[in-house]
Amino acid sequence: MNSERKIAALGGAPAFQSPLHVAQVNLPAWEKVEEMFKGVFGRHYFANHGPLVTELDRVLSETLQVEHAISVTNGTMALMLLARSLDLPGEVIVPSFTFPATIQALTWAGLDPVFCDIDSESHTITAELVEQKITNRTVAVMGVHLWGRACEPESLTMLCENYGLKLIFDAAHGIGCKHKGRFFGGFGSGEAFSFHATKVLNGAEGGCITTNDADLADRLMTMRNFHPSETYTNVPLRFNAKMSEAQAAMTLLSLKELKYNIAANKGRYQAYMKGLAEIPGLSCIEYIEENNYQYIVVEVDDEIFGLSRDDLVDALKLENILCRKHFYPGVHNWPKYKLESLFLGNTEVLCKKIMQLPNGQAMSINDVNKICKTIFEIRDSREFVELKDEFIR
Ligand SMILES: *Cc1c(COP(=O)(O)O)cnc(C)c1O
Repeated sequence: MNSERKIAALGGAPAFQSPLHVAQVNLPAWEKVEEMFKGVFGRHYFANHGPLVTELDRVLSETLQVEHAISVTNGTMALMLLARSLDLPGEVIVPSFTFPATIQALTWAGLDPVFCDIDSESHTITAELVEQKITNRTVAVMGVHLWGRACEPESLTMLCENYGLKLIFDAAHGIGCKHKGRFFGGFGSGEAFSFHATKVLNGAEGGCITTNDADLADRLMTMRNFHPSETYTNVPLRFNAKMSEAQAAMTLLSLKELKYNIAANKGRYQAYMKGLAEIPGLSCIEYIEENNYQYIVVEVDDEIFGLSRDDLVDALKLENILCRKHFYPGVHNWPKYKLESLFLGNTEVLCKKIMQLPNGQAMSINDVNKICKTIFEIRDSREFVELKDEFIR
């Protein structure tokens, strides 16, 4: 490969002039945003389930082909309300290999997370692993469709039916993804989505819960508003989880562009696959089913690659390529949740090996190729590989 350029870790100029963040935000054209907000200002209706939130609930249920969609302030709130709506005290079996919001939502909902290891290929919990964690305190299982790949809906449904447990999903990564031809949204009792600015569907902040259970939908619609004027059924506790018209405006605009943004993600993903395939020791996760291609997830085999995941992330940072080490160090290692008796073998290994590369609207295929080339240059920079500890620490 081209070794003329001195890598940034050895004092060369960074590959990119300004920082390239892992999540490149998807934004609609300014004119469209202006038009949408003119409507909001004109109506003088900003909160409390205005016309745009009502429209969004309808469009989301239509898009995801599910009976009910209930928009809320963010994905964490969607998870919290969904978990709280079960109205069951006890333990919920959940992966640790997930964004920390998954676990904290359970704690806020008054439930006790019990960590389950994951399969090293799918990165998700499996029915087999979950079954080993079931005790008489278990009330539910929360699966995470990590990287938009389905978390065994059929076998988890069967397991939960056998044991009389509730099943819910964190689908924060899963908008637009399908399992066996079905969009995420209708699996388990309910699923929670995120429209955070860094997700493929960008509502600035936002989220929703989807369900085919009419009673659950009534409970969730009641719970998202603290005021009794909006009451569909009896619930023990309510919250202010109402999405604003501003968020609904952004989410509706982003929904219109979802297909286009997913197609563009797919193009970049394929360019990464091609570029990284030529680098021994790096492997990019595969998407067999329909996905939104938001996450470029790479596993670093340090012996074959010659550098560890952490060394590569540090060296890329100096090139202005800001990668992430999700989900290092793992929520099960947080002081609040740590149990000496707990060992999650595959989770521990993946926390040390997995990284995410930048993707999203602001990036071109050329940028992707340049990132792959920079990874080559870092690996081939013998001086760096041998003396990396002095250069970057
Ligand atoms: C982003 C994310 C969340 C939280 O969503 P917010 O909208 O940011 O609150 C929860 N779970 C997972 C897996 C996520 O990636």
